[in-house]
Amino acid sequence: MLPLIYHVLAVARERTDSQDREERTGGQDSIRPRAVLEDAAMIKVGFRVNSRDVPPHRVGDAIGDLLLSQIQDAVTDHVNRRIGSLRCRVHGQAPRVTAAPGGSSPDSWTLTVEGCCEAFQDQATRSLQ
Ligand SMILES: [Zn+2]
Repeated sequence: MLPLIYHVLAVARERTDSQDREERTGGQDSIRPRAVLEDAAMIKVGFRVNSRDVPPHRVGDAIGDLLLSQIQDAVTDHVNRRIGSLRCRVHGQAPRVTAAPGGSSPDSWTLTVEGCCEAFQDQATRSLQ
């Protein structure tokens, strides 16, 4: 039984080789789509997000984490550019800012400002807008 299987495989291999030769030499296109698909299916693709290797089942979470981190940085930068050096003239305090997500862009987040007194809270809120 085994020699027959070897023979069948050898014939199949010969047939594929000769078809390949025919198509490579005679066809307009030297690359067969079927061959390209077979090759692509055998290549394992690794994923790297933010310079770290990530298993395929974690890619979605990793991209979500990266986007969230970038949005947090953007919101923090925005707040600090606008009111980072602002202090209450009466109490010398800095404002406290809470950011709540309203969407995927930094512009859509809601920023809530708290201050040591109402006057400073209003001033910081105006400066942030
Ligand atoms: Zn104050």
